[in-house]
Amino acid sequence: MPTLDESFLEVVATLAGRYGRPAPVAEGLDLFEALVAVALARSVPPKKLAAALDCLREAGLVESRTLAEADPADLSEALRAAKVSLPARSLGPLRRLARWLVERHKGSAEALRDEDVATDRLREELLALNGVGPATADALLLFALRRPVYPVDRASYRILVRHDWLDPTATYDEARAVIERPAAGDPDVLARLSVWLERVGRDYCRAGVARCEHCPLQPFLPEDGPREPETF
Ligand code: SF4
Repeated sequence: MPTLDESFLEVVATLAGRYGRPAPVAEGLDLFEALVAVALARSVPPKKLAAALDCLREAGLVESRTLAEADPADLSEALRAAKVSLPARSLGPLRRLARWLVERHKGSAEALRDEDVATDRLREELLALNGVGPATADALLLFALRRPVYPVDRASYRILVRHDWLDPTATYDEARAVIERPAAGDPDVLARLSVWLERVGRDYCRAGVARCEHCPLQPFLPEDGPREPETF
């Protein structure tokens, strides 16, 4: 069975044919707004994301120093205007993200555009923030800062394992490397793949059942069908 490295271009072409080019998550936003949008997207449904960001903007909270000092209750209240109900405690990572930018990068996300600030260093700094796990750190790096990393979600993990492209005992970083390697440092293809694989996971490759018959990735299955580890 071909590896993902060997099938990569064909997989990308197949998913593009099925789903088309997704709009970038942070399209039209400045870098700080993009960081806020990606952080919010971890807990706000896609349909409400633009409205949630607008409400924060109207409340003057999409500015690093203001957000860093904001009362979580005020954040929660501002989001309610977008019919987004999040407990104040779940907004802690958003404030910590702003505080990180203020304390480590002079409050300017624009400074992070500079590729002299190494991706590995940014990743370490983000992972040190309470409430920011590897997938969130990688989503911020990829979707907001256009760094070539891949946020491995449960859907991506299931797809990789079921296709025998990844050992089920692999670590998060090993799974990340399996996708990042053939993408060869291209953040655009990594961003598209992340959106596409999330769709495949929702439409076909669910935790309890793999509906392979109509799935676009069916031609890439092992000859004897999908692997089914017990951990899904
Ligand atoms: S072909 Fe089957 S195993 Fe592969 S992604 Fe689709 S549903 Fe999952």
